[in-house]
Amino acid sequence: MNYYSTEISNLIEQLSRLPGIGGKSAQRLAFHIIDMPMEQVEQLAGTIQSARKNVKYCKSCYTLTDKEICPICMSANRDHSTIMVVEDTRDLAAYERTGRFDGVYHVLHGALDPAMGKGPEDIKLKELLVRLQTENVEELIIATNSDVPGEATAMYISKLVKPSGIKVSRIASGVPIGGELECIDEVTLLRALEGRVYL
Ligand code: ZN
Repeated sequence: MNYYSTEISNLIEQLSRLPGIGGKSAQRLAFHIIDMPMEQVEQLAGTIQSARKNVKYCKSCYTLTDKEICPICMSANRDHSTIMVVEDTRDLAAYERTGRFDGVYHVLHGALDPAMGKGPEDIKLKELLVRLQTENVEELIIATNSDVPGEATAMYISKLVKPSGIKVSRIASGVPIGGELECIDEVTLLRALEGRVYL
């Protein structure tokens, strides 16, 4: 039975499609939005649209940014010869929060997952190889997640890159198995980085 008017039901339906938002949360958000001053609703809608429209990949590391080249890649204070490979921009943010990594990143936007039909063409792997050929890279730190796709990706990259003579390391398994990097506290992340193993 449709207790609500179509407009409210549509809003609840749309909100419940967002990750982590169940039916109840969607209802709560929908009623909250309807109670908000019109001006605030317009601001929220505008911000969503503008972010979606203007956020793109950094031309160098492929993180999400609204600039051609992101601030990390632009920075002269970062060590551009050390690249940390992560699965997504949230992982990059997790390492940035530790404030202790002064290299640069490469964001793959996923991991190899043959079971889900995700191959090398589906992540930013070719782009990484181009960087390794054109930039002066000394070390590649592979910080993909420690679940099956993350490990498979680490192994794949390591096999591909090692013959080139670039040092390849993998963050230590202080990161719990199946752990997603962004959920792990900073101390654990640092320990994983410092205890990285050379492959
Ligand atoms: Zn960048």
